[in-house]
Amino acid sequence: MATVNVNRSVTDIFYRYKMPRLQAKVEGKGNGIKTVLVNMAEVARAIGRPATYPTKYFGCELGAQTLFDHKNERFVVNGSHDVNKLQDLLDGFIRKFVLCPECDNPETNLTVSAKNQTISQSCKACGFHGLLKVNHKVNTFIVKNPPSLNPAAQGSSLTEGKRSRKQKQKNDNADGSMTNNSLANNSGGESDSGNGTNQASQTEAEISAAIPEKTAKDDDDEGWSVDVSKEAIRARLQDLTDGAKGMTISDDYDKTEKERIDIFYELVKEKRDKKQLEDVQTHKELVIEAERLDIINKAPLVLAELLFTENIIKDVQKNRPLLLRFFLYIPKHTLSNWWSGAHLYSCIRVH
Ligand SMILES: [Zn+2]
Repeated sequence: MATVNVNRSVTDIFYRYKMPRLQAKVEGKGNGIKTVLVNMAEVARAIGRPATYPTKYFGCELGAQTLFDHKNERFVVNGSHDVNKLQDLLDGFIRKFVLCPECDNPETNLTVSAKNQTISQSCKACGFHGLLKVNHKVNTFIVKNPPSLNPAAQGSSLTEGKRSRKQKQKNDNADGSMTNNSLANNSGGESDSGNGTNQASQTEAEISAAIPEKTAKDDDDEGWSVDVSKEAIRARLQDLTDGAKGMTISDDYDKTEKERIDIFYELVKEKRDKKQLEDVQTHKELVIEAERLDIINKAPLVLAELLFTENIIKDVQKNRPLLLRFFLYIPKHTLSNWWSGAHLYSCIRVH
């Protein structure tokens, strides 16, 4: 595998710190276009940082959403991005967050003080220890996700066993339908590179406009992932157009899939308990929220869990319009799988 010096300003071929050259693959089209950082996990291991840090750094630099799936070591930046540009950005990340400010050695550690909300760096080579001088949007992310936190422990699938296997099959097929839907939301219909980025930035701007009180905070680099409450996010989402909702940047996007599914679960449960599930407006809202959380292909399972009782036929009849909306997102040939899975699952729950 092609390797490059961790510190690429060092041209010495015998430089001992090497990392794999970053590989990236563009997937999807239109608004659904994204760049998968194929070997980010390996690169991250080579530079001794969690893979989320450089991924999030790319997201900040490019004004794009990022998505992490630790379990499958899948790290994604929304939009289409050139791998050489990303490699250059990675150099910036390494310069700022890896190399020792005193001796340029990459064998450094970051530690986070949750109390002071600061990041310190220590160097194994020269013994340097001090506060990280860099002030970057990604700092906030690092403080919230310190290196000591084992991201792999978070997991990513809904549950283990049968359901997640079924989900996996569906997952592999789900991209197409999601992309189509995103395309429908894309007024320009362009799919040139950078389109995703523009859309993301535009949406970010809309958010800033929607909540002026947050703008000042954003400017001093602390606002990137300020803990905006779910209620506030939802309130802002109400103000945006339907098309924009699906691509809104929010903290939720950095959550694990399970956490995002849980958010959706709670929302559906709330609607069910308030008896709003027969309302067409609620149906639209749920689709938009599932899209925003990037779990549209898992949403039917959440619905099955919350809506189906032992009398599944009656439940389906009652919730037909809602279910149909979500069925649109499942490729036809996986429908029978889904149906038997949901049916099996509801039977298991009842007995
Ligand atoms: Zn040093």
